[in-house]
Amino acid sequence: MDRLRQMFTVVANDDGTTSATRIQRHILGSGIQLDDFRLQTTMERLQALGDTLIDFEAFAALVSDELLMLNRVFRRELVIPDWQEFCTDIETVFKQVAPLVSGNNASYIPILRDADPEKWGVALCSVDGQRIEIGDVDVYHSIQSVSKPITYAYAIEKEGTDFVHQFVGAEPSGRPFNSLELLPDLRPFNPCVNAGAIMTAGMVASSWPEREAREITTEIMNLWSGLCGDCGEVRYSEATMLSEKDTADNNFAIAYLLRGGRGLPRDVDLHKMLDLYLSCCSIEMTASMLAVAAATLANGGVCPITGRQVLSTEAVKKTLSVMQAAGMYDNAGVFTLEVGLPAKSGVAGAVLTVVPNLMGFATFSPRLDPCGNSVRGVAFCRQLVELFTFHIYDSLSGGRTGCKRDPRASQHNRKQRDLSDLRWAVSHGDRYALKVRDLLLESMVAITLADGEIEEPELETMAETYAEIMGHPPEHGELQAMALSRQSQIEAIDSPDPFEQLLQHLATEQLQLDDNARELILEAAFRVACADGEIEPEEDVQLRGIAGALGISEGVLELEIARFQRQRAGERAFPVSPW
Ligand code: GLN
Repeated sequence: MDRLRQMFTVVANDDGTTSATRIQRHILGSGIQLDDFRLQTTMERLQALGDTLIDFEAFAALVSDELLMLNRVFRRELVIPDWQEFCTDIETVFKQVAPLVSGNNASYIPILRDADPEKWGVALCSVDGQRIEIGDVDVYHSIQSVSKPITYAYAIEKEGTDFVHQFVGAEPSGRPFNSLELLPDLRPFNPCVNAGAIMTAGMVASSWPEREAREITTEIMNLWSGLCGDCGEVRYSEATMLSEKDTADNNFAIAYLLRGGRGLPRDVDLHKMLDLYLSCCSIEMTASMLAVAAATLANGGVCPITGRQVLSTEAVKKTLSVMQAAGMYDNAGVFTLEVGLPAKSGVAGAVLTVVPNLMGFATFSPRLDPCGNSVRGVAFCRQLVELFTFHIYDSLSGGRTGCKRDPRASQHNRKQRDLSDLRWAVSHGDRYALKVRDLLLESMVAITLADGEIEEPELETMAETYAEIMGHPPEHGELQAMALSRQSQIEAIDSPDPFEQLLQHLATEQLQLDDNARELILEAAFRVACADGEIEPEEDVQLRGIAGALGISEGVLELEIARFQRQRAGERAFPVSPW
């Protein structure tokens, strides 16, 4: 069928027509917003059509100008193909983190001290411009230290890397963000701690000798607008700025120290430098806007929702490196260990995180840990990376990730290819493929036997599950034979618990199995355990046992169970297979 026809079929009703609403709903389902710049013409045409029914010819004319983009949207070929599924997982994590109430608001200025500590929002934007927002994503708050990497990027663009790094280092400091300590050569450790950011502000301030700090801040606000694709208004809080100035003794101390050490760039005025630093902290944005800015960084400087190159890829590379090394202050090392992503936090409660080539996200929750990072923000990042292969080193080839999910399109296709290879190899007697198949059968049988004898309907369920996963029914009598031999083992008086035996077997074999194979085995067990539509407590224990023996992380299993329960509540069709 012609591609255009295929696209039409996706949205067509039985009578061979469709409607503007249906098309818009399909677009929204891919994660793309209706005001996306790449679909402007189509949206205008849809608007004009109103309630008119759209036949194939009208559809062809409608989509012709933005066909490439619409083709990707309709075929779900965006960077995160199964957007709905991904969003539901993000919501699950959002809810898991919400109950955390430890930590305190920053209290050095009234506006932060008095902010509502209950606020909790997560916004996320993929490099293809797919967006999800949950909770308090429209609350304006000062960006504080989240400004630091962007002022650094601005300085790199304006002055070049060599000039910038004459004045500031790129070493993690391992010290609190407001520490007065400097590198042995008296440069600040990096652009993400106060000393480094004050120095960066000094460089920028010195390059505009004729302009006031506030005017230069407008330049930087324009950069922020570009980064967030103008999806909201970048604001400036005079009140925050005044309080910041009132309480800036420590920052003044740093500034004097810098001036008395190596000196300031082009002998810039110390007050102008501090004014610029503090007013960059006083820029106000929302999580929704920061997420798009993060996605622009993830996309090498090209804003996904406007297509505009806002920063050079070179500047982004440097910025992300600095964020990776120092974005989370004196927790940066542990954060890299656990989360492995470039991120930047601010004391108002924002955390901006970048998953290079995939997405950016921002969280907002004002309660801070002792390092000055948002408690929920950090917990969200950690939880997310437990479930998804987003840690930079989750990409180690040949590595096992605990069967974390990977929502990327390339992974999706690869898994599909791997499964079809496995099926093909089984049919030709490949040893590895047969082992996977046997373990899968063994697991299904053990689960079914755990509650007594295997009955005829249970055999059928196993056969169906097998057929769905392997692409063809099991060989005649294969399941019965295995079930019988297992059953006689159980009946043999001194035989150890057969389920324990299975777990031991899986635990030994899993060392030789890749993530795909392990997921398949768990999936088979899962489907058999849940065939009656419930996860009984003992089945829950068994599934956890199997997942544990296979080295599949608990979080991933929880996600699988949550998906199952959603399906039970009638939201989505089961099975949710990675393929
Ligand atoms: N305005 C704050 C300061 O300079 C910013 C610090 C931060 O967000 N960590 O102390």
